[in-house]
Amino acid sequence: MIASVFGALRRRPLTALCVGVLSSVAAQAASAADCPGHPDAIGTSRTIVVDPRAHPIIGTMQYNKTLPLEDREVVLTFDDGPLPKYSNQILDILAAHCAKATFFLVGRQANGNPEGVRKVRDAGHTVATHTQNHPSGMHLLPLDRSKQEIEQGIASVTAALGDGTAPAPFLRIPGLRVNDGMEAFAATKGLQIWSADFPADDWRNVSANRVYDLAIQRLEAKGKGILLLHDIQPRTVEALPRILRELKTRGYRIVHVVPATADRPATPTEPAQWQLHPPSETVAISRWPKVPKFAAAGPAALPVPALSHLDWRTTDLGLRTARRGRGVPLPPAALWPRQTTLPPVSTLAALPVPAASLFKIQESARLTLLAPSPRRAAAAQARLTEASSAKVAGKSRRQPGVAATQPLAPAGHAEQSPQSAGVVATKPAAQAKRNGRSVRVAGLKKR
Ligand SMILES: [Zn+2]
Repeated sequence: MIASVFGALRRRPLTALCVGVLSSVAAQAASAADCPGHPDAIGTSRTIVVDPRAHPIIGTMQYNKTLPLEDREVVLTFDDGPLPKYSNQILDILAAHCAKATFFLVGRQANGNPEGVRKVRDAGHTVATHTQNHPSGMHLLPLDRSKQEIEQGIASVTAALGDGTAPAPFLRIPGLRVNDGMEAFAATKGLQIWSADFPADDWRNVSANRVYDLAIQRLEAKGKGILLLHDIQPRTVEALPRILRELKTRGYRIVHVVPATADRPATPTEPAQWQLHPPSETVAISRWPKVPKFAAAGPAALPVPALSHLDWRTTDLGLRTARRGRGVPLPPAALWPRQTTLPPVSTLAALPVPAASLFKIQESARLTLLAPSPRRAAAAQARLTEASSAKVAGKSRRQPGVAATQPLAPAGHAEQSPQSAGVVATKPAAQAKRNGRSVRVAGLKKR
């Protein structure tokens, strides 16, 4: 009935926010109606049916999958019972809240208190198993021993139920100390291994307040998930009513989980719902998507393409093939890389050997290599200009200022020809021009 109320609400064309608010209100109203005499009860908002074979491992404390819960949905789980002194109180508290949970019972405890097992079942909770003797280091046991623990636990709880029914194929390994062998064995048996999404550390020597704080804080951190508690601890009995009240105040909803059977098909879900927080399209993923395993879906061999399908540029190849009348042969020589013919050795010997003088750095080039300061360069240029002027003046006294106002060599040419003595004089000027400053060569002549 509750599920139909949710379904009706979701079919309305409302915004997500409105749906959330109305769902919360509807859930509270439903819980109060479904839990007569307890108006403050949180209730059980819905029941989901899961197929263990489809999802053999769950719980984000150890795996990357968990139950397909919506935001603010919580699944309550209790381990290690039944122990009458405390387990009965836990059942009473849950009954007062009409909250359904999953109990992972220990076979030895079931043997000692079969009535406690039946109480859990009769109260409508899910009965699951937690091995026979609750070994603390189960991951260190030989696999045969682990298998025995698992199977004996199931057998003991089945015997305690006493009606021929078996517990749910849900299994929690003591201390969550599971290994690959146990996982593989559970999968072959159709058992679903339940880790958890957050514990409340109620097996440790902490106060009930601490248990309450951890339960709420860790739930808030993940927003939904499987809460791991123990129904054999007095601190859990003390903390549980506060936890349930706070969950209701904060808008959380309790979800009951049952296994799929022949008469009860699994609740339809999408794979992404089994992730605690499925990646959003707006969030960049840090890993590349997996390369799919490609498999041939058609005939084992593909037909050889006809030559006409190929875009050959070499017409000779087609002609040659046509003459041979066969399929498509390999070209006689590799088309790529292209083969180049080297010149004969005698040709190489005929090339002129460069003279050693070509590699000799002239003495005057040192000034350029040492990058003279602008002042020294200007002085050197002035000296060269004066010498040149004197030379020109000697040739033609009628044009005394020509040599002084013209550079001895173009700036670009000077940079490309370090052998020229004129480089030393012109390079600072060219450099200065590039830097946006002008150098008045004529003015230097006056110094
Ligand atoms: Zn345990």
